[in-house]
Amino acid sequence: MTRLTDISLAGAASRRGFLGLAAGGLAFAAATPAAQAERVRTRAKIVILGAGAGGASIANRLVERLDGAEITVVDGKTEHWYQPGFTLIAAGLRPGSYAKSQNSDWLPSGVTWVQEHAAEIDPEAQRVTTTGGQRLDYDYLIVSTGLVLDWDAVEGFDLDRIGPETGTGAHYASPEHAVKTWQAMDAFTDRGGHALFSRPATEMKCAGAPIKYCFLTDDYLRRKGTREGSHITYAAHSGILFGVPVINEKVVIIMRRQDIEVCHHHVLQSVDMDRKLATFNTQDGPTDIEYDFFNVIPPQRAPQVVRDSGLSWADRWTDQGWIEVDMGTLRHARYPNVFGIGDINGVPKGKTAASVKWHLPVVEDHLVSELAGREGTAIYNGYTSCPLITRVGRAMLVEFDYQDNLTPSFPGIVAPLEELWISWLMKEVALKATYNAMLRGRA
Ligand SMILES: Cc1cc2nc3c(=O)[nH]c(=O)nc-3n(C[C@H](O)[C@H](O)[C@H](O)COP(=O)(O)OP(=O)(O)OC[C@H]3O[C@@H](n4cnc5c(N)ncnc54)[C@H](O)[C@@H]3O)c2cc1C
Repeated sequence: MTRLTDISLAGAASRRGFLGLAAGGLAFAAATPAAQAERVRTRAKIVILGAGAGGASIANRLVERLDGAEITVVDGKTEHWYQPGFTLIAAGLRPGSYAKSQNSDWLPSGVTWVQEHAAEIDPEAQRVTTTGGQRLDYDYLIVSTGLVLDWDAVEGFDLDRIGPETGTGAHYASPEHAVKTWQAMDAFTDRGGHALFSRPATEMKCAGAPIKYCFLTDDYLRRKGTREGSHITYAAHSGILFGVPVINEKVVIIMRRQDIEVCHHHVLQSVDMDRKLATFNTQDGPTDIEYDFFNVIPPQRAPQVVRDSGLSWADRWTDQGWIEVDMGTLRHARYPNVFGIGDINGVPKGKTAASVKWHLPVVEDHLVSELAGREGTAIYNGYTSCPLITRVGRAMLVEFDYQDNLTPSFPGIVAPLEELWISWLMKEVALKATYNAMLRGRA
């Protein structure tokens, strides 16, 4: 198997010119690294909000491309979280430390890091005010704040109480919560019972993650011999399980094969953690479901500071506040000196780290070209990718665009809708190396 992997991936890399093999990174294909492109002289003031996947990466790319720019990164969080690792942590396959590093490990010299959050964004005055009261004037603003998990929207849920005692998990919350989720899932799968999974009705990051975690729990029950006598319910918010029809069909088939009950149009309203009872809003009114293990994933929205800034769409996602960027250029529709990268963007697809990778060269191109007196040409096509784990050691590397076309990085080598060991390896081993290379602006 190792030989096959090496040969296949090396072949794909040379054929399509992918980078990242040296770093062991494979899962999402690379665009031209900033370091290889021309440098532009400028005195522009650029403020980047957020030092996560998008913010750290674009800071590194701009430092390579711009001579003399004043680049400020604003983020009050000092730890960097590799969030795609949370699922592996919550499956007991990696320790909590696997997903943690420091923002200072990734931010380049040549930028100023203001270790405070943005408290106010005024796109008319071109100014950001931080939580500490600093006023930062900008010529260009890059919004890459990610999103917030709205735990308060789930009545009765208390993040501090997840773990084996309550039978609840929350693997989206943090590396520590992913560890506690694993402890709860591990204890549950030792004895079996009723496992419940759901996803929010809002847009969400990595929409495959709730499904992956459902499949992983099923796998642990089978491995431990407790699947018989257990029941698994996946409560979907809508009439489908995944937004891309061809992937949805495949997920439906796997759910059936694995004997997982699917309930449609179930939106989580509240959780009684003492009684282990979840209440969902359904087309027939509120419905209670008892559980022994429940992985809770809350609604997801833009941070309040962004929602208050006037940058959000006025007529779309009004309860969520994603920013109004052009879906091709990622430039703001009303404030052309504002760009969005990552989960914050109000575009129909793209809330994955793999999408960030393809947001970066687009924003870089339009911003740097403008500073050089030209028009940028790069266009984001909606590329989104998610290694959809179906059990330990098997995954489907699903990649798609705005039009729901499958866009495989390794056509003819890695079949996107097959449950393959090689796709598993990409999630388990290669994705982090590629992600790290992206943060450094090298992929
Ligand atoms: C469980 C899970 C599994 C996932 N699996 C995958 C996967 O398999 N593949 C994949 O590609 N993606 C996956 N993702 C999604 C991926 O992690 C995100 O899409 C990606 O991190 C988005 O990058 P971002 O820069 O937009 O946000 P983030 O990386 O979240 O960074 C946002 C940053 O902004 C900062 N910030 C917030 N508010 C402010 C403010 N007011 N002022 C300044 N800074 C602020 C935060 O502190 C943070 O540092 C997964 C995510 C989760 C939770």
